[in-house]
Amino acid sequence: MTKSITKQIITVVGGGSAGWMTANLLHHQLHQHGFVIKVIESPSIPIIGVGEGSTPQLKVFFDILGIDESKWMTACDATFKHGIRFNGWTDLVHPQYDHYFHPFPSNQDHNSGRYFLQQVHQMLAGQPAMPHPDPYFLTATLAQENKTPLHAHPELKTSYGYHFDSVKLGQFLKAYGTGKGIELISTTIDSVEHQAQTITSVTDEQGNVYHSDWFFDCTGFTGKLIQETLGTEFIPYSDNLFNDRAVAIPTQRTDDELPHTTATALACGWAWRIPLTSRIGNGYVYSSQYSSPEEAERVLRQHLNIDDKTPARHLSMKVGRLAQHWVGNTVAVGLSQGFIEPLEATALHLVQETVTQFIGAFCAGKFTNTYQAQFNATINARFEGVRDYIVAHYACNQLAQGKGMDIQPPLSSNLIPSSKKYWADCRNKVHLSENLQAVLACWKNGGDLHQLLVDRKMQTFYPTLSWYSLLAGYRQFSHQQYQDNIQTKQIQSKLVELTQHFTR
Ligand SMILES: Cc1cc2nc3c(=O)[nH]c(=O)nc-3n(C[C@H](O)[C@H](O)[C@H](O)COP(=O)(O)OP(=O)(O)OC[C@H]3O[C@@H](n4cnc5c(N)ncnc54)[C@H](O)[C@@H]3O)c2cc1C
Repeated sequence: MTKSITKQIITVVGGGSAGWMTANLLHHQLHQHGFVIKVIESPSIPIIGVGEGSTPQLKVFFDILGIDESKWMTACDATFKHGIRFNGWTDLVHPQYDHYFHPFPSNQDHNSGRYFLQQVHQMLAGQPAMPHPDPYFLTATLAQENKTPLHAHPELKTSYGYHFDSVKLGQFLKAYGTGKGIELISTTIDSVEHQAQTITSVTDEQGNVYHSDWFFDCTGFTGKLIQETLGTEFIPYSDNLFNDRAVAIPTQRTDDELPHTTATALACGWAWRIPLTSRIGNGYVYSSQYSSPEEAERVLRQHLNIDDKTPARHLSMKVGRLAQHWVGNTVAVGLSQGFIEPLEATALHLVQETVTQFIGAFCAGKFTNTYQAQFNATINARFEGVRDYIVAHYACNQLAQGKGMDIQPPLSSNLIPSSKKYWADCRNKVHLSENLQAVLACWKNGGDLHQLLVDRKMQTFYPTLSWYSLLAGYRQFSHQQYQDNIQTKQIQSKLVELTQHFTR
């Protein structure tokens, strides 16, 4: 398919976060080459309206567009995020280590991170050590000290993400994009016309026909173009990840919210806590094989210690990915292309990655399908890489094994009888990819995990320190002799000292 590059139309169908992020990036990069970007969004089909946490990649997105942080953050009730605190995913037999922080990187990690790795290796070799990740990372310390990532120190560099209101994010990006010249069409698409794998037009409920050279399917879980029309294969991750439902209930913000997401293990899944400036976003992600929606709502209300006055939203999640994200003249982005459950808040990161990779492949191929196969392979590898890291959280859990007080009291198994089975099945029955099996075996045998991640190109998805934080945070050691030492204490006090350079 070779095309002239004058005045081609790219139509993005869907106006959720994925649709507006896609349209803005396409407009920013391709408008100069003669492409006109249009967005069709339905006034009657609501956006999913969850998805309030990001990775540091979202900063890159706004930087590319040249949108100042103070502008969009204020409009979207956004707060800073230094990482994720995981609560209670191990047992509670060692209460001081029943949580750990998955930090975003900083340039201080070279020194303190190296010492952390030494401590881990010492522990893996059977000697007492201090391999808990929290004391070794600047961003973990910033979160603990309730500091923003903003500072004026010339030599400090930290990565950070955000929490935001997802509805307001979409509205902000819509206003920004239409202001820049993206054409907005507010209507619901009823049918999609195509010849083989090429979509020629979409038709709305009133019979208006919209022709376009290229289409982006951002219609959410239904995948109106790529799945419903083109019948692209969907590969479910249900053997790897059991959770397929969520229930969400907002609560009021308190004065002492820390700048991180909290992910707490609950009866048959986990709960997120995301502090915005206007409220706290809470939700419980669980498996419908083990819990009913009513039970799940009860567990969440008990966890939040709230009565049933605030209404709950129940959501289904289709977890998995398309076999191909770019088919003919159509590219799927967002929930239409796949979804890995939100434990590490990676969905918008994958949106951005998909669009950026597409633009690279599209431009390199002179606006043709030349690099379509490479693009699809790259995006599939990203999905698998993120999935493996998420699966490790479940595979390594030590919950509900009956070793004393190993489920947090409000989440006890008498509330959900299947809790014990859920966590045991996550440990024993989730399917582990070959890559993940290799990582876990390497860790257990004290091998060179960094080299293995490099050799298998897994570092591109999660860096070595993230894997070490996860596995050490989950206390994946054959013995549990934690021993404080002077150097760890020195590192921690140096990091605390550095937090003085950051604003509150
Ligand atoms: C429980 C849960 C928690 C999540 N947490 C996170 C998180 O912390 N971080 C993160 O990055 N992501 C998270 N996500 C994912 C995130 O919500 C989505 O990736 C993001 O909102 C993008 O969604 P979307 O735009 O693909 O789909 P949607 O928001 O569903 O938007 C679909 C759009 O398509 C339009 N549409 C549909 N059909 C038609 C039609 N026929 N005609 C015209 N328009 C149509 C709709 O009107 C809508 O505008 C979470 C998801 C879930 C389920």
